[in-house]
This record gives sequence, structure tokens and C-alpha cells, in this order.
Amino acid sequence: MERVVFPLSSEQSRELNPYENALKQLSDTAELISLDPDVHEMLRQPKRILSVSIPVKMDDGRVKNFQGYRVQYNDARGPFKGGIRYHPKVTLDEVKALAAWMTWKCSVVDLPYGGAKGGVICDPKNMSISEKEKVTRRFTAMIADFIGPYRDVPAPDVYTDPQTMAWILDTYSQIKGYQVPECVTGKPISLGGSEGRSNSTARGCVFCVREAAKVANIPLKGATAAIQGFGNAGSWSAIFLSELGVKVLAVSDSKGGILSRGNGLDPRRVLEHKEKTGSVVGFNGTEEISNEELLELDVDILIPAALENAITAKNASKIRARIISEAANGPTTPEADKVLERNKVLLVPDILANAGGVAVSYLEWVQNLNRQHWTEDEVNQKLEQKIVSAFKSVLETSKRYNVSMRSGALAVAVQRVADAIKTLGIWP
Ligand code: NAD
Repeated sequence: MERVVFPLSSEQSRELNPYENALKQLSDTAELISLDPDVHEMLRQPKRILSVSIPVKMDDGRVKNFQGYRVQYNDARGPFKGGIRYHPKVTLDEVKALAAWMTWKCSVVDLPYGGAKGGVICDPKNMSISEKEKVTRRFTAMIADFIGPYRDVPAPDVYTDPQTMAWILDTYSQIKGYQVPECVTGKPISLGGSEGRSNSTARGCVFCVREAAKVANIPLKGATAAIQGFGNAGSWSAIFLSELGVKVLAVSDSKGGILSRGNGLDPRRVLEHKEKTGSVVGFNGTEEISNEELLELDVDILIPAALENAITAKNASKIRARIISEAANGPTTPEADKVLERNKVLLVPDILANAGGVAVSYLEWVQNLNRQHWTEDEVNQKLEQKIVSAFKSVLETSKRYNVSMRSGALAVAVQRVADAIKTLGIWP
């Protein structure tokens, strides 16, 4: 993916800096909705940035210091909410961008939350379970004063999972002296996690594909799809699409991609193969393709479900999909957006397309606060209602301003946050 290619020209670096992209999206939106310049200025910076150095005794006895961040972007609409990412390429600018996008995401689906994000620079693939647990617990202890069910509620993101949330929950609860299940979401069901949370991002993303297909007049039965990234969001998107009769022709992960022309792949069998071998590559009866080739395939639906900057000015004109539903955060640069718009690609933006995860996180939090546990059907119905209603208001807004769905989604989201800030007033 683009983010590992060095050296970059200054123009490329700017295009690939997610925070620059988030600010550019904000200023375009400010212009579109005639945002109050004072509110615009406030929204250009996170409310709080925590930067911590996490010492951990590794399995070989040496002490390693990991850099960790929690960026709390805005909480005008409710407690901060956002995932924690473990990745060697985490940067503060990336975490700031993701925190801004969380603010817009919670707002666009009308959840009573603000936005935050966390990240630890580490390589979880080369760490033992015990080392990951120590990083998680020490990181939690260092940010414990600033998180909590009414303050800031973490969740999983890339390379963190329900087990990571269980360690956060236990560490936070030990510090408080009582059990606080509502301090994180995306936790295991045995600790108060919600039914349906594990595949909610993909479920929401595929609801968006279904709604977009109605708009673009594409019958889903027999339509074709390609999916970049075969982790939580990507693999479940593949499964749900194939349940709707869509032929998933290609999928990929960090090691490469596979293509099966004709009837496409059986995503559940690909998942079994990945679980056994560590990659989708080598799945029986498929052709190997690169991640770049996958994005440019002649398919109806494209789901970027890996990391940022998959679709850039360099490859946007080669994209042939008619619908893109962004399961990943920030997979398309603003430059690429313009090209896709010109080419009439119907793009459902990340803040809407992957909001299923945070929507069910919200439902988990509500269940925890009320000491309830709902059935998976109840959760999925509430999720569908939230995503479909957000899709409708975004579509309506984008038609009203005659702009893309990304601009429409940002307009809805930023307007709601701005209204909350104005109504609260500036204290003192
Ligand atoms: P994950 O760790 O489960 O999976 C990530 C996948 O991307 C893996 O298959 C990995 O091999 C692949 N990948 C990594 N680098 C790649 C590359 N260079 N090219 C192709 N594939 C690559 O993560 P996830 O939870 O599925 O998250 C994926 C994206 O979706 C991220 O952008 C994340 O922020 C976003 N997202 C996830 C959730 C969620 O609930 N899981 C919610 C909202 C947004």
C-alpha cells in the first residue's frame, strides 16, 4: 500500500497525510454549509491529546518503551468514543485524523457520542500474548484518568480485539475497585459484550451497498465484488455480500490477493484457509493478484477494508467499480475522490459505510448501562434502522447541495456537531 513507499515527493506526502486530508475535508464542508468561522477554528484541533511512553518487560527480559496516543477530538454531542489501533506505522497525525473521523461518524449516525481514537506504535504480529497484554494494561493505566463510561469509551480497531478490550476492562476496573463493563465496547460476550458486535461493521457496510445498489439500479443477485483486506471488516463483508447473491471475485490481505473468475469465491472457505495458513493467498483454484490489481478489477462493487490511502490520485482513474463502500477508514484521498466523482462512481464514505461497528458499540453501552442483554435479532434490527436512516439523510443532503455522498455525510455530521457547540456555548 502507498504508505510504505519511500521517499515520497512533498505532494505525495501531503496527499497521504491522513490529518491533512481530514482538515481539507473539514474546510470543504465549512465552505459548503457556511460554517461559523469560530466553530471551524475549534474543530481544526483535537480537544485533548494524550501522549504516553509505555515501558514493558519483554519475554527476553529487556525493557522496551512503546509510544502510545489517545486523541480526544470533540465531545460536544456526548462522551468521546473510538477504537485503539496497534500497528508499527501508527503516527500522531493518523490518530488525530481517525479521531476527527470518529467525531463525524458518531454524528452522522446520530449517536450521542463525540469522537476519539487511540494508537500504540508496536508490531503485534511479532509480540507474544503476554507482551500484548502488558502493553495494553500499562497503556490503560496511563490513560485511566481520562477514559471511562461517561468520559471516553475505547473499542477495538486494527490488530486489537475483544481480548484486548477484556484487558482494558479488567485494568480499569481494578483501578476503580469495582467492575465497570461499560468502560469499553467490543468486549467478549461473557463480559457484557453485545450479540452481533463482532461483525457489525461489515453488516453496516453491506446495508450501505444494498441501499447504494438501489440508487444505482444494480440488481445485487449476480453482481460482482472485490474486497481489499480480509480481516474482521473485509471477511464478514465478503460473507454478507455472498449471502445477498453477490459474486465475490477477489479478496486480499497484506500478503497479496486472490481472484476467482466465474462464480467467485466461497468466503467462508477462504476464511478457513486464512485461519490455517495466515493468508488468503494460495486458496485452491484461484489466480494470485496484487492489491493494486484487485482495486482496478472490472467489478460492480469495491470494498476497501484494509488501511488508509488505498485509492489515490495515482490509481483512481483506473477504478472500474460502480459502487465503493468504504469499510476502512480513510481509504480514498481527496484527490482520488474528485476523479471518482467525475467518473460517476457512487461512493459510500467511510464515516457512514463503516459506522455499523460504532452503532453496535453504542447499543452495547446502552445494554451495559441498563444491565440488559438483547438478542442478536434485536441488535441487528436496531443497527439496520440506524444505518438505513443515516444513508437516507446523507443521500438527501448530497442531493440538496448537489455534492458527493462524502460531502453530504460530512455536511450532516459537521452541522450537528456545530449546532451542539453553539447551543452549549463557550465556558467560561
Ligand atoms: P483487521 O486487523 O481485522 O484486518 C485488517 C486486514 O487488512 C487484514 O486482513 C490485513 O492482512 C489487511 N491488510 C493490512 N495491510 C494491507 C495491505 N497493505 N493491503 C491489503 N490488505 C492489508 O482490521 P479490521 O478491524 O478489519 O479493520 C480494517 C479497516 O476497517 C480499518 O481501516 C479499520 O479502521 C476499519 N474499521 C474497522 C472496524 C471494526 O469494527 N473492525 C470499524 C470501523 C472501521
